[in-house]
Amino acid sequence: MEKRALIGITGRSELPRPPLSSPLHGVSEAYVRAVREVGGLPLVVPPVLEEEAAGPLLACLDGLLLSGGGDVAAEFYAGADSPLLMLVDRDRDRAELALAREALRTGRPILAICRGVQVLNVALGGTLYQDIGTQVPGALQHRSPDGQAKNVSTHPVRLVPGSRLADFLGTTEARVNSFHHQAARDVGEGLAVTARAPDGVIEGLEHQTHPFCVGVQWHPENPAGNREAMGCLFQAFVAAAAAR
Ligand code: MN
Repeated sequence: MEKRALIGITGRSELPRPPLSSPLHGVSEAYVRAVREVGGLPLVVPPVLEEEAAGPLLACLDGLLLSGGGDVAAEFYAGADSPLLMLVDRDRDRAELALAREALRTGRPILAICRGVQVLNVALGGTLYQDIGTQVPGALQHRSPDGQAKNVSTHPVRLVPGSRLADFLGTTEARVNSFHHQAARDVGEGLAVTARAPDGVIEGLEHQTHPFCVGVQWHPENPAGNREAMGCLFQAFVAAAAAR
């Protein structure tokens, strides 16, 4: 039987909602579905982890999916927190930075989505725009209104020809959904820009020498009218993890 890749999906914390009385650690079902659709075995990774546990945990996983979520605290890239930061969770930041660094060190395939690509960039010494709307002149609307359906296209992106991302998606232009107000600013060591929005905001990064380390700022798990192309991204990721 063909080996199925075990994919760790990083989770988030949620406060208890009555009648539940304890906080939840979980992931959006869209990530789980996208991994399952291409034959991967998803495993939810809680957003708390001591740094030295990243190695043993990664050793069990074939691939790491860094999922979307709140903002990364600025202290992790030597900045001061802007008052515009949202949903900061330093425990999650620490856990994901440790996992990302371990996956980079050990060559485990990484797919980084939205917040995930920001974590990836910070893990490699990059910095972030803490709030695109106030820090990038002439910025487009990247933060879709609260409650907007995830699968609605928000803005176009131009992909760098020859990048893995462009190869996987089979195109150099796409329309994507957009639910972020942070983005990579200075690019981390070893990463290359693979996609930009028309306002210059970085929408894709990939590592130049790692076996598979691809990140996008949009949400391919909830594709905006291009399900087939975005499914190819998950397919390539899970295939790389299975072949490890
Ligand atoms: Mn965007």
